[in-house]
Amino acid sequence: MLRDTYQRPVKDLRISVTDRCNFRCTYCMPLDQYEWVDRHEILSYEEIGRLAGIFVGLGVDKIRLTGGEPLVRKDLDRLIARLAPLGLKDLCLTTNGALLAEQVPALKAAGLRRINVSLDTLQPERFRKITQRGDLAKVLEGLFAADSHGLRPIKLNAVIERGVNDDEILDLVEFSRKHGFAIRFIEYMDVGNSNNWQSEKMVPKQEILAVIRGRYALREAGREDSSAPAVEYEFADGGGDLGVIASVTEPFCSGCTRARLTADGKLVTCLFSHVGHNVKALLRNGASDEEIREFIGSVWGSRNDRYSDERLEAMQSAQGYQAKNRKKIEMITLGG
Ligand code: SAM
Ligand code: SF4
Ligand code: SF4
Repeated sequence: MLRDTYQRPVKDLRISVTDRCNFRCTYCMPLDQYEWVDRHEILSYEEIGRLAGIFVGLGVDKIRLTGGEPLVRKDLDRLIARLAPLGLKDLCLTTNGALLAEQVPALKAAGLRRINVSLDTLQPERFRKITQRGDLAKVLEGLFAADSHGLRPIKLNAVIERGVNDDEILDLVEFSRKHGFAIRFIEYMDVGNSNNWQSEKMVPKQEILAVIRGRYALREAGREDSSAPAVEYEFADGGGDLGVIASVTEPFCSGCTRARLTADGKLVTCLFSHVGHNVKALLRNGASDEEIREFIGSVWGSRNDRYSDERLEAMQSAQGYQAKNRKKIEMITLGG
């Protein structure tokens, strides 16, 4: 089996289907304009399907479609239909939900099994402020449409930022419990360079849990599997579960089995990387599956990423950690 320099296999593939987005979340892509990938450089669904098949042959059994906003790419259901027969353990989509209501039937019919929806606030004005252009009502409509079409379990992703939405942790918990959604609280991370991340704005996992424990008894249930980013907690009263992704304060690089494919066909081996390996060049130059497999194998085989572990070491050192000193690929290019 393919393994990197720390003996980590490749199990999860996150495919960014577009770098475009209909939102401009302040923590992700705050700027109005970016240097967008030229349309001809974006992988076709046929190309993505072929690469996905090769990754499955190398050990991948979970695929997540992301972006940018995956639902702004035309006919995403056609890609789902290509991926669904690959025999994956999990095929999932992470979306901001704005275009979900109208697309749910086609996505479901194509074979999508479940979705993650990003939802950081339940207050319409605040929602508009965080996303800079989103409409909360549309997202909620999409969320409930997905639920009624059986795209379950639905997970909600909430990035908690100090002074922005840290007063809504319990409201988000209540909302999730009421509707049977599983919420994942995410520590605000220093992805990319344009969000001007500052450690003071990150609300640590222990602080998030303390707020929730003020109202609910929780039982730690561990990670779904050794490579899962979220640590799960069950409500002691049987009201479901929640998770916390503590990439900053409790990094999980040692179990990281995630590869990322950018919309323009680069293989990236860490969320905080600044380099991508050009798989598309091989694809478009007529390489065989075997040649592509060898290329991916050599990239993964020399992988030594452990960025979040290093960040924590730096934060705990005398010098401290300076996020802006390191050049990184923007989140919209990579997918979360
Ligand atoms: N547009 C889709 C969405 O928002 O769900 C998919 C792509 S988005 C980049 C994937 C996930 O990354 C979202 O849940 C988002 O909240 C998360 N994310 C973006 N920037 C982040 C940051 N600075 N820290 C933590 N999570 C972040
Ligand atoms: Fe777009 Fe998702 Fe980033 Fe928000 S988090 S700007 S919705 S890609
Ligand atoms: Fe994986 Fe990189 Fe995140 Fe560590 S920092 S868990 S290696 S993506």
